[in-house]
Amino acid sequence: MPQPKPVDCIISARWILPITPAGKLFRDCSLVIHKGCIQAIRPSDNVLQDFTPTQHVQLNEHVLMPGLVNAHTHAAMSLLRGYADDLPLMRWLKDHIWPAEKRFVDADFVHDGTQLAMAEMLRTGTTCFSDMYFFPDAAAAAVHQAGMRAQITFPIMDFPTSWATDADNYIHKGLMLHDDYRSHPRIRIGFGPHAGYTVSDIPMRRIAVLAEELQAPVQIHLHETATEVLQAVDATGIRPIERLMDLGVLTPLTQCVHMTQLSDGDIDLLQESGASVIHCPESNLKLASGICPVQKLMNRGITIGLGTDGSASNNDLDMFGEITTAALVGKVAAHDAAALSAWQVLHMATLGGAKALGLDSQIGSLEVGKAADVIAVQLDELSSLPLYDLASHLTYSNRRTRVTHSWVAGKLLLRDGELTTLNETELRNRALHWQHVIQPPAAKPESLA
Ligand SMILES: [Zn+2]
Repeated sequence: MPQPKPVDCIISARWILPITPAGKLFRDCSLVIHKGCIQAIRPSDNVLQDFTPTQHVQLNEHVLMPGLVNAHTHAAMSLLRGYADDLPLMRWLKDHIWPAEKRFVDADFVHDGTQLAMAEMLRTGTTCFSDMYFFPDAAAAAVHQAGMRAQITFPIMDFPTSWATDADNYIHKGLMLHDDYRSHPRIRIGFGPHAGYTVSDIPMRRIAVLAEELQAPVQIHLHETATEVLQAVDATGIRPIERLMDLGVLTPLTQCVHMTQLSDGDIDLLQESGASVIHCPESNLKLASGICPVQKLMNRGITIGLGTDGSASNNDLDMFGEITTAALVGKVAAHDAAALSAWQVLHMATLGGAKALGLDSQIGSLEVGKAADVIAVQLDELSSLPLYDLASHLTYSNRRTRVTHSWVAGKLLLRDGELTTLNETELRNRALHWQHVIQPPAAKPESLA
């Protein structure tokens, strides 16, 4: 009789929702993990006949599913949560966010803010995120230490900030970072041209050439508001997406964030180019930017990921909340309650995001050979009962507080609600430190903790 094979870990759970194949749900099965990857999915009653685990985790009232992929955020902006609200995008940026960033953002700010964001993300089921922020070296270092997975896109703009002086300088610094992380197993560095209206043609062309050479991802805010599109048409005679196409920036490596203002011609260009879309419904609602026509894009086979955007415009990094919002808004946008089903939104928040980020061969579903990026959600509390349809509960009944465990590449980063690589007391102290340093103009200090 063959000896059981030694493996690092077995997680036995009430349910496993692998995302692929679509609609599949395993009951009373176990996920077998070895060297950071999924080795097998087996019925729990006989898994120990074939495998001997170093660690065996029993989660009898939980569902295991792929870790959520937050495909667009500005992690360090967790330190600017609630700093300025209830304003339209350009006033919010120009009068509040950009001046605050000029005053306060440095490598320490980004390190502390990224750690704070990762604590929130791990607790709410996100195991991989895409970041776009200044001092991306500080963000990457924080991700490396915490053990999460990330796409870090370094920002590029025409104008100076505390991180770089001009577009060439942003690109130069970003390329050095790309070199540093070239072979990192969990961190991928990409280009983050901020938007069409902040990056001129010459750097855009350079980004197109370099991204192609390095096969590196490009993430850009695009068609976020009607004003952005109208002003571009006034200035150039063409829409921002047409300009990107002309400059060679729109390719399968490109991730277009927001896309709330789309003509049929824009959708044709998206489909033709193979670029993906990152949907950030809560940020779009809060800034009254508009609504991305997600079902329409899905019908055309365009890859769509889901993102929270930064904490200053959301104001949280809770992907389960975003899943609920995406499902609801998707139905209103399509004038059809059957649009954007629970399964479709769960797919968007996992494998869709992974595909948009070019990581779908590694993550996004629980399949043999993929990295063990896994979360456990507990479903035995009264508000989860009775339970007829697991995808329905995960989508429409907000589950964020029920995430108990998060693994990245087989490493346990959240154990029974406790972070294993981030120090909560330290994070609390640093957050309070920044609260005292950053005083919002309208804040009344006596009302703050
Ligand atoms: Zn953004």
